[in-house]
Amino acid sequence: MSKYSPQAQAPRYLQDFQCQGSACVDTCCAGWMVNIDKPTYQKYQAVKSEPLASALRQHVRKASGAARNLGYGVIELKLDQACPFLDSAKLCGIQSAMGPEALSRTCNDYPRIYSHDGAQIGLNASLSCPEAARLALTQADAMDMLNISLPFANASLVPIGRRVAPVAADETDPVRRHASLLREALQRLIREPSLSAAQALMVGGMMLRRLVKTLGGAELAIAQQGQDAVALAEQAMAQAIQHYLSPAFLARAPAELRALPVPRAAQSALLMGATEQFVTQHGGRASFKALMQDAGPGLQSVELGAERLAALDAAQPHLLKNYLLNSLMADLFPRHGAAALEEDFMAIAVRFALIQFYLKGLAARADQAFGADDVVRVVYVVARNIEHNRRFMPTVLKALRDQDALRLELLVTLVG
Ligand code: SF4
Repeated sequence: MSKYSPQAQAPRYLQDFQCQGSACVDTCCAGWMVNIDKPTYQKYQAVKSEPLASALRQHVRKASGAARNLGYGVIELKLDQACPFLDSAKLCGIQSAMGPEALSRTCNDYPRIYSHDGAQIGLNASLSCPEAARLALTQADAMDMLNISLPFANASLVPIGRRVAPVAADETDPVRRHASLLREALQRLIREPSLSAAQALMVGGMMLRRLVKTLGGAELAIAQQGQDAVALAEQAMAQAIQHYLSPAFLARAPAELRALPVPRAAQSALLMGATEQFVTQHGGRASFKALMQDAGPGLQSVELGAERLAALDAAQPHLLKNYLLNSLMADLFPRHGAAALEEDFMAIAVRFALIQFYLKGLAARADQAFGADDVVRVVYVVARNIEHNRRFMPTVLKALRDQDALRLELLVTLVG
């Protein structure tokens, strides 16, 4: 790396990340659609040496239909079908024959997610990779942020996957205008020692609910009155952040949240119903179905599971907090401004709710130890099922929406 290498803000755990290759417990080279960028596709078409040339022509095809939005070419794998280029030692045959520079961007980058928040480059990892999940969740300081040099000759070569445009001087959407402030406020809540990850999510939800209500009225006012109304909306946003981060509020919040009744039966019915609907309609990865099976018996004693999960959470709060911090940063929340604020937050909350739900099921099994390894497993299995199957979240969110459960008001039911 040269002194001109582009810089990125990245969590500490990424410094230590190394793909486990053939030692990986759940390789990413299976069960999804591998997008192939145009230069790589053309490089593969030009390969002459056999048997690789025939295999490339057979398995790498030009993308068609909706897949064209994602890449020029594609290696399409059925659920739990391994990549045809994996050799018997579970190593990539393309890389072995042609070197690492022959890999497509998808294969080369995963699990790294490069983003740009309009001001700087960010780097996170998808926690659908078991090794990234292990590093991100099990170390207390894993989400400390560092400035790191990226292995690219200049910033224009960084494969940015998620991008937010710089804030325009005349931007009237206060959420877009102050996205980084809002993200920092949520990060502060998550890092707040007196709150658990679930409690931080609930307080964050209260703060955003107040904002959504205020901004709903402000949008109309902005349309009618221009910049004065923008200033009013900004003032309301600052007041909401100040209130929910104030020492007085934070001192009483944990006890008040603990006192809230959590309707466990409704929680189980919503989350189990939504995932079962998905599995019935679309199938599911073997690792996800195995998780459902392992957690299933424990979900009959979900109160006991909630107690054991709370004990683990109290002893190692970074396990779930780091998951949330990574999600906020990787998603660039709030990426889509005021209109999508509630929906974007609920998508994060539902992923968290699913993870907690299956953890409670595993925790309730009296015959087995329960600890950090279970959190790592549930996070990467749920994340893998979501990220490598584009229908999972839409199906689950639709099932919850159909039951009117996708509202900030119902956060306690989902994550309590
Ligand atoms: S899931 Fe992660 S550790 Fe496993 S093969 Fe893929 S990148 Fe490597």
